[in-house]
Amino acid sequence: MELTVLGRYGPYPAAKGACSGYLVTLGETRLLLDCGAGVLGRLVSFVSLDNLTGIILSHLHSDHTSDYFVLRYALEVAYLQGRQREPLPVWAPAEPAEEFARLDYRGLVSVHEVEEGQAVEIGGIRAVPFAGRHSVPSYGWLLTGGGATLAYSADTEPFPELEEKVRGADLFLCEATYTQAQLAQGARNHLTAAQAAGVARAAGVGRLLLTHLSPLQDLDVLLREAGREFPAVALAEEGRTYRVRA
Ligand SMILES: [Zn+2]
Ligand SMILES: [Zn+2]
Repeated sequence: MELTVLGRYGPYPAAKGACSGYLVTLGETRLLLDCGAGVLGRLVSFVSLDNLTGIILSHLHSDHTSDYFVLRYALEVAYLQGRQREPLPVWAPAEPAEEFARLDYRGLVSVHEVEEGQAVEIGGIRAVPFAGRHSVPSYGWLLTGGGATLAYSADTEPFPELEEKVRGADLFLCEATYTQAQLAQGARNHLTAAQAAGVARAAGVGRLLLTHLSPLQDLDVLLREAGREFPAVALAEEGRTYRVRA
C-alpha cells in the first residue's frame, strides 16, 4: 500500500499548499481520502480520475471537501464522453444533514453514510471508520491491505479510545494542528503535535506522519514537540509518496 500526500494544511492552505487530501493505492485500487482546497489539481498529476476507485470524506468541513464539488464536474464530463458508466462510491458522515445532502450529484456518485466500526471494502482495501471528537461528526479510518495498515486520525481532539483505534498501525497519519503553548492558551477541537505523538507511542504504531498543519505554525516547534514523545515522526510532505509496510 502506498500513501501520497496531496495536501497537508488546515483550515486553509499555505502559499502553494493544499488542504487535506491523500491518495491511497494498492494494486489497481485508487482511493482518495479527503478532497480539500487545492487537492484536485494535484490528484490528477498522479492518477486519472477515470481510474479512481472511491472517495472517503472524513467529515464535512470545507477544508476536507471543497474540491470534491469541483471533482464532480470532471465526473460529469467523463460521463458525457462515455468514459464513466458506474457511479463513483463516496463515503461520508450523514451530519450535518445539509452538507451531506449536497454530496449527491446527478447520479454520478453513490453516497454512503459512514457508521462507527462498519467496515467497507474498497477495491483491495478494507476500510474501518471510527468516530473522532470534533465540532461536527468526523471519522478516522483504519485502512488495511497488502499486509499493511494505515491509520488516519481525520480531525479530532484527544479522546481516550483513540490509541485503541489506531493500535499497531504501520503508518499513522495524524492531525497536529497546535503546539503545546496554543493548547495552554485554550486551543481545542484538534490535537497538538505532542498529543499525536503520545497516541502514536501508546498505540505502538510504526511511524507517525503529522498533517493538518496550520499555515501560521512554526513547523520546527511541532516536530520538536512530537519528537520528544515519539522519535519515528516526520511532517507530511506534499507531493511525496510513502510506502506503508508492516
Ligand atoms: Zn480540517
Ligand atoms: Zn474539521
